[in-house]
Amino acid sequence: MKLIATDLDGTLLNSRKEISKENITAIKYAESNGIKVIIATGRSYFDAHSICKRAGISTYIIGSNGASIHTPLGDQISSVPMSKGDVQDIIHCLENHNLYYEVYTNKGIYTFPDKKEILYIELSKASPENPQLNISLLQKDLETLSAQFGYYSVDNYNNILERDEKHYKIFTLSFDEVKRKAGIDSFINMEHLSLVSSGDYNFEISSQHASKGNSLEKLSSILGISPEDVMAIGDSYNDVSMLKTAGCGVAMGNANDEIKGLCNIITDTNDKNGVAKAIYRFVDSYKSVG
Ligand code: CA
Repeated sequence: MKLIATDLDGTLLNSRKEISKENITAIKYAESNGIKVIIATGRSYFDAHSICKRAGISTYIIGSNGASIHTPLGDQISSVPMSKGDVQDIIHCLENHNLYYEVYTNKGIYTFPDKKEILYIELSKASPENPQLNISLLQKDLETLSAQFGYYSVDNYNNILERDEKHYKIFTLSFDEVKRKAGIDSFINMEHLSLVSSGDYNFEISSQHASKGNSLEKLSSILGISPEDVMAIGDSYNDVSMLKTAGCGVAMGNANDEIKGLCNIITDTNDKNGVAKAIYRFVDSYKSVG
């Protein structure tokens, strides 16, 4: 085992969206034992990079669910954008469904000033019918969206299409199950696109060639490491491709049963340093083998 790939939200980040001291120490321990640790996230590269920088970690970053790969020095070594025509069609469809969305490019994460209103309306309608929806937690989710590094508000979606940028991912969030399902159904047969989810209320669209699994395969081959020598850690559906690609798949204790069922190992939760615990298990068995 030579490489550890970890997801960020729900995995390396605790619920305060921080990398704990224990996880930082474990990553440095792995690196000091000659094992590479990389980040594979649905977040954009610059957002993930700013989180790692705050924690004093410098690694390869697979961003936007596999649409980009950057070296620890910030050089981009892979880019898998969608075509402008696809972006236009997706936006058109999401507008028709009156869904909240964000467009991730190589330069920023774009949204519109009036779109947040849709979410607050959905939240107020959905919560009396579904007491399971934890309002304060969801409001925290909304704050997390706005706290993303490189988050910009633009006047209308033509501004996004006109930009000479690479469009990596469109993120959609909805607390209205009927709307969300209708949105998902309208993309499900578009085979040139990939649709994944990283949480209960979202779905994300990218090029069919962009996935954490594809990028992990690409990066391990660049680094001369066989996929069997890779451990991947994740908690959600956008991690499935990399959990399957890696020789050893590790599910977080907070992952659902479906994700846990795909993995060889289940570690502790993200609030109890599950990543650090998986790293020590991995590195110590590696050391004992030599
Ligand atoms: Ca996650």
